[in-house]
Amino acid sequence: MKAIVAFGSNMGQRQETIEDALKMMEERVGRILAVSEVIETEPYGYTEQDNFLNGAALLDTELSPRRLLEVLQGIEAELGRVRLIHWGPRTIDLDIIFYGDEIIDEEDLHIPHADFAQRTFVLGPICEIAPDTVDPRSGKTVRRLYEELIGGEQ
Ligand code: AMP
Repeated sequence: MKAIVAFGSNMGQRQETIEDALKMMEERVGRILAVSEVIETEPYGYTEQDNFLNGAALLDTELSPRRLLEVLQGIEAELGRVRLIHWGPRTIDLDIIFYGDEIIDEEDLHIPHADFAQRTFVLGPICEIAPDTVDPRSGKTVRRLYEELIGGEQ
C-alpha cells in the first residue's frame, strides 16, 4: 500500500533527526519511493518555539494503518521526542497523512490526517512528491487542495 507520512522537527539537530527518521522508516515501514525537499516553517498553534523543518515521504508499505502508527510512534520515542505542550516543541513528529485511499476514523487514528488540507507545510511537500494523490474525503487532488489553500491566503 502507498502511504504518505509527513515529518517535522524543531528541536536539536533537526536535519540529522529527519535523516535518522527516514532511515528508520525505510527499515521498519517499507521502501521510500520519494522524499520532498525539507522546508523551514514558522511554528503553528503554539508560536513561542523555534522554526520547524517539514517535509513528506511516499512509502510502499505492507503494514496495516494501525501497525504503521505504532511503528512511527516507536521511531518518535526512540529519537527522543519531547512533548510537554500540545503543538509544542518536538524532536520529531511523524504523521500518517494518507494510506492508499482509505478513510479511517478511530479515536486515536484519523486518516487522512485531520486538518492536513489547512496546512501549507504539509500540502506543499506532498504536492511536490505526489500531486495527483486524491483525498478520499473531498475527492480533490492534493494539487487542487494546495492551489485552493495558497489562493485563499492571498
Ligand atoms: P501529534 O502531537 O499531533 O503528533 O498527535 C499525536 C496523536 O495523534 C497520537 O496520539 C495519535 O494517536 C494521533 N493521531 C491521529 N491520527 C493520526 C495520524 N493520521 N497520524 C499520526 N498520529 C495520529
